Amino acid sequence: MSEHREEPLAARERRVVIVGAGMAGVQTAVALRELGWAGTVTVLGAEPHPPYDRPPLSKAVLLGKADGSAFEVDFALLGIDLQLGREATGLRPAEHLVDTASGPVPYDVLVIATGAEPVRLPGSEGLPNVHLLRTLDDAVRLRPVLAAQHDVVAVGAGWIGAEVATAAREAGCEVTVVEAADRVLAGALPAEVAARMAPWYAESGARLMLGARVTTVEDDAVVLADGTRLTAGAVVVGVGARAATGWLEGSGIALGDDRAVLADERLRTSLPGVY
Ligand SMILES: Cc1cc2nc3c(=O)[nH]c(=O)nc-3n(C[C@H](O)[C@H](O)[C@H](O)COP(=O)(O)OP(=O)(O)OC[C@H]3O[C@@H](n4cnc5c(N)ncnc54)[C@H](O)[C@@H]3O)c2cc1C
Repeated sequence: MSEHREEPLAARERRVVIVGAGMAGVQTAVALRELGWAGTVTVLGAEPHPPYDRPPLSKAVLLGKADGSAFEVDFALLGIDLQLGREATGLRPAEHLVDTASGPVPYDVLVIATGAEPVRLPGSEGLPNVHLLRTLDDAVRLRPVLAAQHDVVAVGAGWIGAEVATAAREAGCEVTVVEAADRVLAGALPAEVAARMAPWYAESGARLMLGARVTTVEDDAVVLADGTRLTAGAVVVGVGARAATGWLEGSGIALGDDRAVLADERLRTSLPGVY
């Protein structure tokens, strides 16, 4: 072991960089200030919008009852340097640098809060009638489609499928939900619990098709494995999400089989100073 010891930085010179300006990133920044962190706090967010809460996107925002769901946080007052539209593209742990298109950002402590990104339906990418629901932009794009009362096919009977079905019915759309598994919320809840949610679909007036696997999405229809062709003015894909960790490729950070960052009970990752 080397005898060399680095001089500890003065508390106010220590730099926390948080990547991701969602609920986790914003709450971490606020909590650091509340707990008296004296150093700098920088939040990098890929999206251009002021940080917002996602749950209203599939409810009030989708139905036009609210324009947005921005967090009520005064970042300037808290001394938080919020950098929007600035996506992290890489991590160089040996140099303590986060890479972005407009240059590297140095850190002493790094917090990874990049959340999740939706799983896409293979072959449906780029089709104008196909929608995801993860971001404010997604909700703003889908809102007029529901308002125009198109026939909607929701792919996936998870939480997003259930909420889209409810909102689309409320907007006056004909709604079919197709689910490859033999029950709703198959990836989220045990069968006994999920069984209690299955009647939601009929109660809202949506048609639920279980054991129905999508093979192709066309401009105006969804085709199932058994050949059934469902007319669809709009298709909303809600087939799950996966950890948004692509930018950590090559950094050496330990990831699980599902590509999520591995952390211990104190949220420490395999890299020093990275949480
Ligand atoms: C439509 C919808 C409805 C929901 N409803 C509910 C609900 O009713 N109840 C409930 O409990 N949960 C709900 N959820 C889930 C809840 O919103 C999530 O659990 C929560 O958003 C997780 O927060 P997060 O900060 O960990 O990640 P995220 O919300 O995913 O935020 C991560 C942020 O990091 C940014 N980012 C990603 N990669 C980078 C990068 N490389 N560089 C910089 N920034 C990056 C993203 O743009 C994003 O803003 C809902 C989710 C959605 C999408």
